[in-house]
Amino acid sequence: MGNRQTRTDVILIGAGIMSATLGSLLKELVPDWEITVFERLANAGEESSNEWNNAGTGHSALCELNYTPEKPDGSIDISKAIKINDQFQVSKQFWSYLVNSNLIRNPRDFIMPLPHMSLVQGENNVAFLKKRFKALSNNPLFQGLEFSDDPKKLKEWIPLIMEGRTSNEPIAATKIDSGTDVNFGALTRMLFDHLKSKNVDIKFKHNVDDIKRTSDGSWELKVRNIDSGTVERVTSKFVFIGGGGGSLHLLQKSGIPEGKHIGGFPVSGLFMVCNNPDVVAQHHAKVYGKAKVGAPPMSVPHLDTRFIDNKKSLLFGPFAGFSPKFLKNGSMFDLLTSVKTDNLVTMLAAGAKNVPLTKYLIEQVMLSKEKRMEELRDFVPNAKSEDWDIVVAGQRVQVIKDTAADGKGTLQFGTEVISAADGSIAALLGASPGASTAVFVMLELIKKCFPQHIKAWEPKIKEMIPSYGVSLLKNPELFHEIHSSTTRTLGLSKNLPLQIARRSVS
Ligand SMILES: Cc1cc2nc3c(=O)[nH]c(=O)nc-3n(C[C@H](O)[C@H](O)[C@H](O)COP(=O)(O)OP(=O)(O)OC[C@H]3O[C@@H](n4cnc5c(N)ncnc54)[C@H](O)[C@@H]3O)c2cc1C
Repeated sequence: MGNRQTRTDVILIGAGIMSATLGSLLKELVPDWEITVFERLANAGEESSNEWNNAGTGHSALCELNYTPEKPDGSIDISKAIKINDQFQVSKQFWSYLVNSNLIRNPRDFIMPLPHMSLVQGENNVAFLKKRFKALSNNPLFQGLEFSDDPKKLKEWIPLIMEGRTSNEPIAATKIDSGTDVNFGALTRMLFDHLKSKNVDIKFKHNVDDIKRTSDGSWELKVRNIDSGTVERVTSKFVFIGGGGGSLHLLQKSGIPEGKHIGGFPVSGLFMVCNNPDVVAQHHAKVYGKAKVGAPPMSVPHLDTRFIDNKKSLLFGPFAGFSPKFLKNGSMFDLLTSVKTDNLVTMLAAGAKNVPLTKYLIEQVMLSKEKRMEELRDFVPNAKSEDWDIVVAGQRVQVIKDTAADGKGTLQFGTEVISAADGSIAALLGASPGASTAVFVMLELIKKCFPQHIKAWEPKIKEMIPSYGVSLLKNPELFHEIHSSTTRTLGLSKNLPLQIARRSVS
C-alpha cells in the first residue's frame, strides 16, 4: 500500500451530472485551473445520472402536478412551476452554448422533443387540472399548453391510454409540445469526454475514503485505488462533493459545522419497462398522473416514452420503496452509519414523524408484479403482464434537517448545496428536481464558493447563459429569443426530422 501525495486546484468527487456540469462550467471560466475527478465506479454516469436509473424528464413543470399545489382558497400556486421552468431554461442555454462551441456534439444523443402531458380522473381532479391550465396558459413560459376533457381528443393524443377504457369517470389532460426527454447518462458521459479532452484528470475506480482540513486551510483527501488498494493523499483548495447519495457521508467526514444536524432518508425506485415494440410504438409522450393520497411526490406515476440507446422505449413508474442503501451500488449499512451524535436527535425526530411514509415505502417494496400491473392499468387498461419487465432505478437520499417552520427532523424534497463559510468545500444533497436543474444549481454553488471571482466571471457566464441574473417571466421577449435559439440548436422542434436536426447542429 503506497502513500503518494499530490496537489490540484479543484477536486470533484463523483462522476455524475453535477460534477460533469460544475467541471464544464469551471473549464470555461478558468481554463488553466487543474481539475481532478475521483469516481469509485468504472465509468461516468453510472449512479442516479444513468439513463436507466432516473426518469429522464427535462423538469420544467409542464406536466408535474406537484409543482402547482392548490391553495386552501382553491386557487393554484404556480410560483414553484415558474421557478423550475426558469431553471430548466438555464440548462438548455448552457447545453446550447456547448453545442455551438463544438465542445459537445449531436444534442439528439441526449435530448429529444417530447410532449409533456398531465392526466387526471374524477370530477375534483378534472376541476383542479382545468384551474391549473387557466393559471398557466397565459404565462409566456407555458405557451402552447392545451387542455381537453373530450375523450375523442384524448384518444388522438394518447391512444394507448384511452384504448379499453370503460369507466364513465370524467377524465382530462393537458398537453404541451415543448417538453423534452433527456438522457442524463449520455449527457454526463459526453461532458466527461469533453473534460478529458481539456486535460481534466478523471480517476475511475478511486474511492474517496476521507476528507480532512490541512493547517493552511486546504483539503486533503484520502483516495483509495479500488483495484490495487494503493492509497493516495491529494490536496486542493476547493472540493466539490458530488457523490450523489454518497455525499452525506463525505460531508460528515469533512467535519464542517454547516454539515451537522443533517440526515438522509433513502428512497429506492423501480420502473416497469415495456418489452413489446408494438405497444411502445403506440405511445409518444410523458404522461404524469397525480400522486395517490399519502404517497410522496417522488412516486407520482408516469408513463413515459424514452429514448435510450438510440431506441424508443416505454417506461412506467417510478414505484418508490425503502432500502437502507444511499447509492444503488452502496451498502446496506449506509443509513445506519450516517447516524452520528450531532444528527441523532434529528434522525429520531424524522423517524417518529415519518412512520406513515416509511410504512408506505415498505408496503411498496412488497408489491407483487401483478399489483404493480394493476397500477399500470390505471394508465394502460389493456396492459398485459408478459409485455412488461421490472428494472431497478437509482436511489434518492432526501435531506432531513431541523427547520424553523416544521421543527426537528423535517424531510425535504428539494436539492440543497451545503458549503463551508469560506467556500472551500461544498456538497450537493437531495434529489429533486435534480439533473434538469444541474446548471442552475452549480451556478449558485459557484456564486457561493467563489464570491471573489464572480464579478470577473460574469461576462463569460452571460455569454454562456444569456438569461443569467434575469427573470425570464419578467422579460418575455428575452424568453422567446432564448426559447427559439435553444430549440434550434438542440434540435427540439418537433417538425425537424432527426437527420436534419443532427446536421444543423454538428
Ligand atoms: C428514480 C429516479 C428518478 C429521477 N428522475 C429524474 C428526472 O426525471 N429528471 C431529473 O432531472 N432528475 C431525476 N432524478 C434525479 C437525478 O437523477 C439526480 O438528481 C442526479 O442524477 C444526481 O446527480 P449527481 O451527480 O449528484 O449524483 P450521481 O449521478 O448519483 O453521481 C454521484 C457519483 O458519485 C460517486 N461516488 C459516491 N461516493 C463516492 C466516493 N466516496 N468516492 C468516489 N466516488 C463516489 C458515485 O459512484 C456516483 O457515480 C431522478 C432520480 C431517481 C433516483
